[in-house]
Amino acid sequence: MSEPTITNKKSIQDQPERNLELSKRDFLRLCGTSVCLLSAGYLFGFPETSRAQATAKGLIKTKLSPYFTSLDGGNIQCELCPHRCRVAKGKRGICRVRENRDGKYYSLVYGNPCAVHLDPIEKKPLFHVLPGTTSFSLATAGCNFHCKFCQNWEISQAAPEDITSFEVPLELMVKRAKEVGARSVAYTYAEPTIFYEYMIDIGTLAKKSGLLNVYHSNGFINPVPLKNLCKVLDAANIDLKGFSDDFYQELCGGNLAPVLETLKTLKREKVHLEITNLVIPTKNDEMSMVKEMCLWVKKELAADTPIHFSRFYPLYKLKTLPQTPVSTLDKARAVALSAGLKYVYVGNVPGHEGENTFCPKCKKMVIQRTGYMVGEINLKAGNCRYCGKPIPGIWT
Ligand code: SF4
Repeated sequence: MSEPTITNKKSIQDQPERNLELSKRDFLRLCGTSVCLLSAGYLFGFPETSRAQATAKGLIKTKLSPYFTSLDGGNIQCELCPHRCRVAKGKRGICRVRENRDGKYYSLVYGNPCAVHLDPIEKKPLFHVLPGTTSFSLATAGCNFHCKFCQNWEISQAAPEDITSFEVPLELMVKRAKEVGARSVAYTYAEPTIFYEYMIDIGTLAKKSGLLNVYHSNGFINPVPLKNLCKVLDAANIDLKGFSDDFYQELCGGNLAPVLETLKTLKREKVHLEITNLVIPTKNDEMSMVKEMCLWVKKELAADTPIHFSRFYPLYKLKTLPQTPVSTLDKARAVALSAGLKYVYVGNVPGHEGENTFCPKCKKMVIQRTGYMVGEINLKAGNCRYCGKPIPGIWT
């Protein structure tokens, strides 16, 4: 397949669908963890940061979880996410990174990220947060979902002993983030909730150092830890993977209702919120479902909540499905706009007009993007430069 050649709105409309297709390599380059400005080897490969060079398979550093209940016989119940795993001594929960040791529950990934990259913040995707800046992005092994379409399954579906990780104390994480000019720290790639303790401690330090904290999550977290997390979070992008519990159960190993609660809590706690919906052919691409989801977002959150319709590429356990036709993403965008949502984006289609931000009042383009690159920004103190309408987000 050829490289995507689209560069502007006119060429998208003029070109046949096939020219918008990506090869698997292109897709991974654009969407996967390999897309970054700088990776861990460079970020920590300096003499003064030699502790971080302790790179090995199976690094495990424990930290007592603040969220578990002791049960009879040394069993525990984890209270971090809605799975509420009941775990016997010596065993682990569904996410594979929390273990019952003598009746106490421990995180096994504290201080041991398996991925650290310097990314454009547009990759999270967060389009209304400091556009054109970089985000110091990290993940550990593990996830509390088992999505059949996971882009990062090599790390999300792994236990810490299965993969190579780094030893990165939180002070060093924040120090390097500042040194390389990042404006934020991003907890991302797999599922940050499962490395909660590490995230909270880095987040507290990062906040004191003037960095923003941003979170890309499946939203499957219990309300109490989430409210505590909100004290350090500035922005979140939550995957709303489909608008049916059947979809969540069949394809993700989770449930929809707790994700919706998370979205409402983030809104109430005034964390800047964006939503990503990966549109998967035959699984969640019914426009009636898209419409129902958009109406819920408008009613329960706000019409100005940015939503990203992202293109699926066949990976992991859904390799037999086709990539999402651009026409389907166009339809989803049109449905969302007609439902009243004001900031509706298309993801994983570089050059699509749906990558840009348009002022909902005067309809002019206020932020121009191509892929992860930001072009013109026509905002003045967070307002549209043409008509003065405030555009929600974090702009300075
Ligand atoms: S965080 Fe992990 S151990 Fe805790 S309830 Fe969720 S899946 Fe289970």
